[in-house]
Amino acid sequence: NVKYDYLIVGSGLFGSVFAYEANKAGKKCLVIDRRNHSGGNVHCQNLEGINVHSYGAHIFHTDSLQIWKYVNQFADFNHYINSPLALSEGKLYNLPFNMNTFYQLWGVKTPSEARSIIEAEVNSSNFKTPANLEEQALSLVGESIYKKFIQHYTKKQWGRDASCLPAFIIKRLPLRYTYNNNYFNDRYQGIPIGGYNLVVNKMLQNIELRLSHDFFKDRSFFESLAEKIVFTGKIDEFYQYQYGKLEYRSLKFEHEIHDIQDYQGNAVVNYCDLTAAFTRIIEHKHFEFGTQKSTVITKEYAINESLNSEPYYPINDTKNMKILKRYQCLADKESNVIFGGRLAEYRYYDMHQVIASALKKASDEQWK
Ligand code: FAD
Repeated sequence: NVKYDYLIVGSGLFGSVFAYEANKAGKKCLVIDRRNHSGGNVHCQNLEGINVHSYGAHIFHTDSLQIWKYVNQFADFNHYINSPLALSEGKLYNLPFNMNTFYQLWGVKTPSEARSIIEAEVNSSNFKTPANLEEQALSLVGESIYKKFIQHYTKKQWGRDASCLPAFIIKRLPLRYTYNNNYFNDRYQGIPIGGYNLVVNKMLQNIELRLSHDFFKDRSFFESLAEKIVFTGKIDEFYQYQYGKLEYRSLKFEHEIHDIQDYQGNAVVNYCDLTAAFTRIIEHKHFEFGTQKSTVITKEYAINESLNSEPYYPINDTKNMKILKRYQCLADKESNVIFGGRLAEYRYYDMHQVIASALKKASDEQWK
């Protein structure tokens, strides 16, 4: 009766990489997804001939040559470099915080001038052990940068004042004393030519895939199908929320088509003030150097989780981490279930990290 070696719940990057590797090793896999498309959060929809990132902007970056070569099997990548802008009090600034930003803020032209302003501000904040996110940010970057770029943006992101948020949310706020607007420090970066769907479709091309199938709607049936389950959904849902629900921050996306060639001249513009309710506007064609006659933009809002919203960012505070530990104890006892990916591990993963994790879990199998 057992028809498959692996039932893979979720066709996001974790599930798709695992399925590809298992299939290559001669294992029979069935991939199911509760959504009506594959790819999980890297999925794109085609609007006006533009790949629109349905679940938020996705820029591939990695420092690992192995991971870079791995993804390049499935698509060629373009030379997109992420250089976001920040709009604050009517003026545009370069991100990440670098000499261009400091010049725009204070007119300073040399790294030593910028350093002395920032050091003076940091020293005057004088927090030995920051008690909240505001104090943490002030002690890392000083008052000017905090007020212009962090204070209100953070409030929109988390729905609470920075002074009421835990300091651990911001561990580092890198300051770059060179004129370099490349957001990432990684050696390799780009967007797959043809979009992320192409990558995932190639991974899954020889594998049975059932979309709009929710594991929990017919759990015992699905469990009976395979020797082992690779579960990439929510770990608390897997255990019927018996220790409580793990909390997430969610997002809302509003896509708009505009009958002009270029809306904002850049893929990503952050909106730092409270006057705009959204946190950023994404103009998707710029990820691909698109030349279409029209353009598609997405306004991104950070919202509380509700019944209909997607879980995006895990809230890794003490309360949730305690709950997670209890679920992990149950998971450790499972002999036929592999938990992987952002929802099953309840952690934020970048794409390159989730691919590395799936490759590791696949190699742990040794395809016995
Ligand atoms: P997912 O993509 O979420 O896949 C899980 C799949 O499981 C989903 O398709 C879901 O429908 C399915 N599923 C869940 N439960 C069930 C069930 N019961 N039955 C059937 N199917 C189920 N990373 C970067 O490297 N660069 C970026 O620029 C970047 N930007 C991001 C922006 C945003 C807004 C967010 C939220 C994330 C971003 N990421 C980025 C991270 C990236 O999205 C993740 O690393 C990656 O998508 C995780 O893949 P996954 O397979 O773990 O999860």
